[in-house]
Amino acid sequence: MTFTERTTDARSFRHWPGNVEADYIYTSGIAGERFFRELRDHGRLMGTRCSECGTQWVPPKLFCEECFKEVHDWVELPREGTVGAACIVGVALDGSRLSAPEAWGLVRFAGFRGGFVHRLLVTPDRARAGLRVRAVLKPEGTRTGAITDIRGFSP
Ligand SMILES: [Zn+2]
Repeated sequence: MTFTERTTDARSFRHWPGNVEADYIYTSGIAGERFFRELRDHGRLMGTRCSECGTQWVPPKLFCEECFKEVHDWVELPREGTVGAACIVGVALDGSRLSAPEAWGLVRFAGFRGGFVHRLLVTPDRARAGLRVRAVLKPEGTRTGAITDIRGFSP
């Protein structure tokens, strides 16, 4: 079978099995760069605001997904956010078992679209949607401009 013939099974095309190594690096982009610099240098969590439709974005976006306009306005997030969803994690990213379960959640901010998935600095039995939380940052001078500059979100 060739590519000009129609099929719903890609395995029916002439093929050979194999693996392709694909290493990649995601850059943080222009908006991410400014977000992480603000976090590192000033301890601020920033989002962007579309001047056309008023939608506010976190993490910050340079283009509005609502009206497709370029976004130029930067705004600081409110001090408090709200846990939109929470879960308990028992396995690390490398697949190893954590010594103690951790609480993670989606933290949203009033007036902003989006949010952060991050560690909740509570015991697992206290992790729940609706919990009001604040970001706990690493001390000034120890921050590196990474999402881990936020230690987590605490009630
Ligand atoms: Zn917009």
